Amino acid sequence: MSKKQLAKKQSPLKIAVIITLTLFVLIVALVVIKNSGSEDGEVGSFDTPPSLEGQPVMGEESAPVTVTVFGDYMCPSCKAWEMDIFPQLEKDYITTGDVKLSAVNVLFHGQDSETAALASEQVLAEDPKSFWDFHHKVFESQAEHGEKWVTPNKMAEIAEETTSVDPDELVDKLSAKTFAEQLQTDTELFKKYNVQSTPTIMINGKTVNEVFDYNKIKEMIDEELGNAK
Ligand code: CA
Repeated sequence: MSKKQLAKKQSPLKIAVIITLTLFVLIVALVVIKNSGSEDGEVGSFDTPPSLEGQPVMGEESAPVTVTVFGDYMCPSCKAWEMDIFPQLEKDYITTGDVKLSAVNVLFHGQDSETAALASEQVLAEDPKSFWDFHHKVFESQAEHGEKWVTPNKMAEIAEETTSVDPDELVDKLSAKTFAEQLQTDTELFKKYNVQSTPTIMINGKTVNEVFDYNKIKEMIDEELGNAK
């Protein structure tokens, strides 16, 4: 057998190796793309909205649409959403009985997120009627980025102003982390719903992509209301 013939004989094998390698590379690439797609969590659509069990709920229990706000008291965008978008939503849909809204604590900013969230869970447990006043006031009190503002005493001051929770007891229970279990429930919830950033807003379990686009939020709610009829 000449060298040329030998080369010809080997070539189908070489082609098979190349095809196998190419397929392998393609499969690896697909797996990588698929994983990165699910990790960025940009578009999340779930069949059921996050559970309201143990969470603060604003609005009529019978409201057909559930809006869930996954937020962090330390997050400046969450404050902006609370100040700019929420009031419109409240006026247009919550007071009309179309939407009920729930807030879930996300702890993306360490100790201070936890302190503020623990305080909110205590207010919810001990004076649920005042929860939303406290919640709003905490966001309102948020300082410019980088400035330390969350302390047990500051939370006690806000609680004293907006709720009937005893401020000294609040400080004690913060240091004892009395409401840690409630935060664990929230953490399980935001992991289950693949929350990657705050605020994440879900309308009946569908993630809103542009949380500051109120027209888009309206559109999604109207669609859900249409479906509910
Ligand atoms: Ca909670």
